[in-house]
Amino acid sequence: MDTYQRLESEVRSYCRAFPVELDRACGSELFDGAGKRYLDFFAGAGALNYGHNPPHMKEALLRYLTGDRVVHSLDMYTRAKRALLERFEEVILKPRGLDYKVQFPGPTGTNAVEAALKLARKVTGRPTIASFTNAFHGMTLGALAATGNNGKRAGAGVPLANTITLPYCGYPNADNTIEYIDQLLCDPSSGVELPAAVIVETVQAEGGINTASFQWLRAIRELTRRHDILLIVDDIQVGCGRTGPFFSFEMADIKPDMVCLSKSLSGYGLPLAVVLLSPEVDVWDPGEHNGTFRGHNPAFVTATAALDLWENDELERSVARKAELVRTRLEDIAQKYPGLVDEVRGRGLIFGLACTGDCASRISRAAFDRGLIIETAGAKSQVVKILPPLTTTDDQLDEGLDILSASVAAVA
Ligand code: PLP
Repeated sequence: MDTYQRLESEVRSYCRAFPVELDRACGSELFDGAGKRYLDFFAGAGALNYGHNPPHMKEALLRYLTGDRVVHSLDMYTRAKRALLERFEEVILKPRGLDYKVQFPGPTGTNAVEAALKLARKVTGRPTIASFTNAFHGMTLGALAATGNNGKRAGAGVPLANTITLPYCGYPNADNTIEYIDQLLCDPSSGVELPAAVIVETVQAEGGINTASFQWLRAIRELTRRHDILLIVDDIQVGCGRTGPFFSFEMADIKPDMVCLSKSLSGYGLPLAVVLLSPEVDVWDPGEHNGTFRGHNPAFVTATAALDLWENDELERSVARKAELVRTRLEDIAQKYPGLVDEVRGRGLIFGLACTGDCASRISRAAFDRGLIIETAGAKSQVVKILPPLTTTDDQLDEGLDILSASVAAVA
């Protein structure tokens, strides 16, 4: 570890929780240089929904690279980009009756959020963005201004402006959040300016696995429409099948004005992001939002191959089945350790075990010692976050949950 301590910035973080030098990876398994195996219940913080090195995406990528096909192209037209756009329309948009235009911003999640916020301001002429308690939207200044966590916000070093924070579904001691938000927007003396957009995660992943009910999401859609506010769904972590369907908002039966996707979009852990735009909000001037890496063709290739998994509902059904298996096991753990585990939270294959004190971090550490990579979430890292690749086998899920159970027992 000496090289890292000597040469890498103090900002490094995950490697401190999981101090291992990784080498190979396959499906839901990671291996260090000596061949020690780790089971992955972290999935690249949601970037590896289909596991590590999924074979059919790897083959497509290798074919592309060995053919000397174009890798970098800014936002020029390429065959790889056309293939992705056409396949996305055929497999994702059309079957869902969606007519979104596709914007390629820079390739990370925060790039997609910045683009969406900027466009919302341009469309409406209003500066304010409304986000929610415990939200996480990224680390660049615009996205950070819409993020709840004080520790992360403090890193900005400048005032984070032009945002307001509203109470998320189920926020403690806020009984009827929808009525409260509506009141703030209706009351000319509330001090709240009409925002350009409301940006929401249907499940707050980094914020502690807080799930918004479908009814609440529908009410937010209705309320934003009534007040002429744009609705942006940040599906960066819980899109691409994490909650079951491709988009996490499908089960709520709403259509956002913009959708941010990244993380598992490329299917392979390669950087790629998009903002999906309702045609009427696509008022960009050419080049008004720019960036050198908006055309990473290898990521287009693997993203196109990943869409094969969405030709039928097999993956969605398997997520629902596995989710039940995981939930049952987690509820058993919660029942067994009532003073330590407060609650099981989640939807699809993203779950949280809300723990008391610093138990979540200690459980994560105990699990790592037993060969399971599992992180924590929440403002105080108080939630163990269960995020296996969607393709994790039943046996691997059982194995990981056995390790988790043993780790909770060790901490208890
Ligand atoms: N939005 C959500 C919901 C996220 O979970 C994340 C990252 O965890 C981001 C935005 C930022 O994505 P990135 O880290 O790729 O910039």
